[in-house]
Amino acid sequence: MSLKKRGAMIILSSPSGAGKTTLVRLLSEKKNFFASVSHTTRAPRSNEKEGVDYFFIDKEGFQKLIEENEFLEFAKVFGNYYGTSKKNIINKLNEGQNVIFDIDWQGTEQIIKKKLDFKVVTIFILPPSKKVLKERLSNRDMKDKLIVEERMNQFDKDILHWKNYNYVVINDDLKNCFEKIVKILNSELNNKRSDYDKNSVENHIKKLV
Ligand code: ADP
Ligand code: 5GP
Repeated sequence: MSLKKRGAMIILSSPSGAGKTTLVRLLSEKKNFFASVSHTTRAPRSNEKEGVDYFFIDKEGFQKLIEENEFLEFAKVFGNYYGTSKKNIINKLNEGQNVIFDIDWQGTEQIIKKKLDFKVVTIFILPPSKKVLKERLSNRDMKDKLIVEERMNQFDKDILHWKNYNYVVINDDLKNCFEKIVKILNSELNNKRSDYDKNSVENHIKKLV
């Protein structure tokens, strides 16, 4: 019998700007946690680096990777394609590393449907309010008001998907949110459910939409 230790797939999704990328970066600093780097056809932001934040690729290149069946999942989000290459993550999981994914709800559904031989933990991140979300998006995408508007317009639709996730966490204070996620993962990686107050999340969502 193989005694190979296998890693877990940890998926973070949220409406744009709620803080997934920031949280994934913090988690990836933990021992044995590896952040999956996606491919995208979107243009890099001024602070983004090739191979660190994304593998930036044109539409033709992305299409070729789809045809070659290179993606574990892929989706069109805000008019651009985003996808997770199998190559980058399956080896890590087989080596026993936990892989963290910053992907949208469509990619999450595709991964769940695949019923792979790895544990999957899904976490949906919420902003404290729409006002704070807009401030965060505006600070990040300073030069482009249209991007902020496009992402705010999508908010009410994106947020509906929280129900399909194992856990929902509000990212108000970053440290506090990070600690909640670490607590969830510590339980889940020891095959225990963590507690999560669904009623207070439902109330928070009623206030948000
Ligand atoms: P997402 O990946 O969900 O789109 P980001 O991680 O890029 O969101 O965060 C959007 C912006 O908000 C970034 O500028 C980030 O530094 C900032 N941010 C994230 N979490 C917090 C927080 N808890 N408090 C204040 N600013 C935050
Ligand atoms: P951004 O342009 O802000 O980096 O990302 C936009 C959205 O695309 C976010 O919701 C992010 O989670 C999602 N995303 C990033 N990479 C992937 C991916 O590989 N697959 C899928 N399905 N979504 C992704």
